[in-house]
Amino acid sequence: MGVGRELRPQFPIFASFPEPLHYLDNAATGQICAAAAEALWEFETAARANVKRGVYRLADQASAAFEAARSTMASYIGAPAPDEVVFTSGATSALNIAAHGLAERLSPGDEILVSVLEHHSNIVPWQLAAKARQAVVKAIPVTDDGRLDLDRLGGVLTDRTRVVSLTHVSNVTGAVTDLARLRAAADDVGAILVVDGAQRAPHGPIDVKAIGADLYAFSAHKMFGATGAGVLWGRSAILDAFPPLLGGGEMIREVSFAGTTFAAPPHRFEAGTPPIGPVLAMAAAAEWLMAQDWSALAAHEARLTGRLLDGLGSLPGVRILGPTGLQQRLGVVAFEVDGVHAHDVCQLVDQLAGVALRGGHHCCQPLMERFDTIATARASLAPYNDDDDIDALIDGLERTIEMLQ
Ligand code: PMP
Repeated sequence: MGVGRELRPQFPIFASFPEPLHYLDNAATGQICAAAAEALWEFETAARANVKRGVYRLADQASAAFEAARSTMASYIGAPAPDEVVFTSGATSALNIAAHGLAERLSPGDEILVSVLEHHSNIVPWQLAAKARQAVVKAIPVTDDGRLDLDRLGGVLTDRTRVVSLTHVSNVTGAVTDLARLRAAADDVGAILVVDGAQRAPHGPIDVKAIGADLYAFSAHKMFGATGAGVLWGRSAILDAFPPLLGGGEMIREVSFAGTTFAAPPHRFEAGTPPIGPVLAMAAAAEWLMAQDWSALAAHEARLTGRLLDGLGSLPGVRILGPTGLQQRLGVVAFEVDGVHAHDVCQLVDQLAGVALRGGHHCCQPLMERFDTIATARASLAPYNDDDDIDALIDGLERTIEMLQ
């Protein structure tokens, strides 16, 4: 336990990187925690066998560890049953399984409601599903401070809305979605609620039941696990009705040329050899996250976010895209520097101050268009960030602005 700098010994990158690293690109990927790195190494070097098929002890142990990881992930998100946890390669593949599965229910003219805040992985799979079923994708507009404009929900939610799919936390503005209100709205029209939890998963245990989600997607690499794993959670009644997205080994009940039958969820959606090491590392990361003091970490993140917002607000020509207060937001802050391209901002703050920031459209082109821009810089926080990172960023930006403006 601990916050900020106290946690850095538990993240190997900080000892391995040859110079001070002010890592503020956590929304793109978090650094792996030692517990997850050790679980990955341990599996690959001391316990490696394929899962769900072998009968020898090593294979049996690998299968048992894999299923134990399913239970751990179910605990992390408050899922009623481990079998509702589908292992995927990440949030993107989870959302594709969801969209492909829900497409079955769509008739021509039905509507899928997303929002202008969404990451492309919560837009494009729905566009593909809509195209296949002659359905329509609509989007909830966004306010000037980067939140869902729920006053305008009535203009896009209709009695044809079958699916509402929204991000839990924006990867650009940091805004936290009012899911209680959206659950109620989805219920009004009998729609399924899908939640993209990619940016929420690193911020502590989740309760999918309390949220009222029907399906919930996230990636391990953003929650201090390895790359290559993720989860789609779904209520069993919903997953039971989904067709598989990928066909292959280990997802079948019986294969014959007369017709193939499929395994029950979650295996129906886990064709082929799954990312075993990354799944075990994800479970180790979830255990690590569950062992932290989340009231201390949330207070730490809010304090740093406040300092970041104040620091950015004090610089000439800097525009923040998103809420400038601390209510209902996490530590993801996108900003523009007047007259300077986001890529130049990111390169210079790295060269001048050793700060790792993201610059680009953040896979959110509709949101960029909403804010009349094509790219922004973005700083995003993790539990190991501390005042030194914020100071380095503000100092680096000040010098960048002096040089370029
Ligand atoms: N949704 C959101 C909100 C994200 O921030 C991201 C990653 N940037 C994704 C989905 C996709 O995650 P992944 O690339 O790990 O599949």
